Amino acid sequence: MAKQDSFEISQKQLDACAKLINLDAGTLAVLREPLRELHVSLPVRMDDGSIKVFQGFRVQYNDAKGPAKGGIRFHPEETIDTIRALAAWMTWKCALVDLPLGGSKGGVICNPKEMSQGEMERLSRAYVQSVWQFIGPERDIPAPDVYTNPQIMAWMMDEYSKISGKSQFGVITGKPLSVGGSAGRDDATARGGLCTVREAAKEFGIDLKKATVAVQGYGNAGYFAASLCKSLFGSRIIAVSDSKGGIFNKGGLDPEAVRAHKDKTGSVITYPNATAISNEDILELEVDILIPAALEGVITGANAAKVKAKIVAELANGPTTPEADDILYRNGVHVIPDFLCNAGGVAVSYFEMVQNFYMYYWSKEQVYDLLDKKMTPAYHSVLDTAKKYNTHMRMAAYVVAVERVAEAMKARGWV
Ligand code: NAD
Repeated sequence: MAKQDSFEISQKQLDACAKLINLDAGTLAVLREPLRELHVSLPVRMDDGSIKVFQGFRVQYNDAKGPAKGGIRFHPEETIDTIRALAAWMTWKCALVDLPLGGSKGGVICNPKEMSQGEMERLSRAYVQSVWQFIGPERDIPAPDVYTNPQIMAWMMDEYSKISGKSQFGVITGKPLSVGGSAGRDDATARGGLCTVREAAKEFGIDLKKATVAVQGYGNAGYFAASLCKSLFGSRIIAVSDSKGGIFNKGGLDPEAVRAHKDKTGSVITYPNATAISNEDILELEVDILIPAALEGVITGANAAKVKAKIVAELANGPTTPEADDILYRNGVHVIPDFLCNAGGVAVSYFEMVQNFYMYYWSKEQVYDLLDKKMTPAYHSVLDTAKKYNTHMRMAAYVVAVERVAEAMKARGWV
């Protein structure tokens, strides 16, 4: 899918949902567009003494349910169109896991791979200097996203605190533990996704101890998914991959040893005791659970009919095209859609905000427990809705989320 189309796609998905639930035209009109957006020019002094001006954005899509929440991306091909779409999806994701938050997203067009640490810090601080009146713990709370990380969040929090003259840890999440980060954030996305896999397995009578799993992508989401599938469920991880290719072993791979190998060599592909498998073939393996955890648009109209997994757990954003969705649904493949499956990250981000407000920090075990209490009911509300409307899980997830945001707008008298 072309990047330029992202917002149009998000609007089409919303339109289809609105039709299904007979959403009134006024409410739909409000939900189809971002409520607010800010475009900024950021002058930054580069290491060679020159001044470079970067373009930045912050989009607050909808904050009917509470302050907006969404990451900041630093990417050379960032577009306002993508940011709008991602802000819309954050709105639905937060509503779906029942967080008292709206949805937003931000970005800066830049290439972090070509910038020094000093330039990155000055850019991060410049972004906050430009948007600080627009964000805030009670307005809009950013977080890390593509090419931004805990260090960048720490600089941004520091800049916001300096401007406001007081410690403002709650202005941003995904911070290092030493400055108000939350325990349990590192594996939150995968752990949350596995709560939904566990519930799906119960629903479809799959014994997770005997289940086989394939994971595409072996970064933050994919590695923790493989590791936790083995340690929490006792499932057998028979294939994993990264950008260079995949590995397969019917008897099972050791996720920790594969990770150590990737850390040492830069890829999983030369891991011993496994055969090579392509990133295309990994999607078509006969497994109980397939976890796309890399890129968008990998399950398409061309290969969806060949997917043999019983459950597809979308930790990646947008791995399945709309055409593929229909094919998978017809073939009885149970898809746990991205904005449900990967919502564990934003759920723990929300916990981080709460801990910052209380200035009291929870143990990993408390975070895991609360995460489960968000993910499990969210999964069941989507499943029940899918049954009620006789539709697939992605459409059902839209229905649950859109109804909640619409209800909040109505209660506030916006529509
Ligand atoms: P990451 O950068 O840590 O890892 C990405 C992995 O994908 C790497 O192993 C990389 O080698 C692999 N990859 C890249 N191109 C590939 C290709 N063509 N085929 C197969 N593998 C390829 O990223 P991440 O944080 O794990 O994110 C992965 C996906 O999960 C993204 O879609 C992201 O938006 C989504 N996600 C992540 C989080 C989170 O908390 N990390 C939260 C929500 C959604």
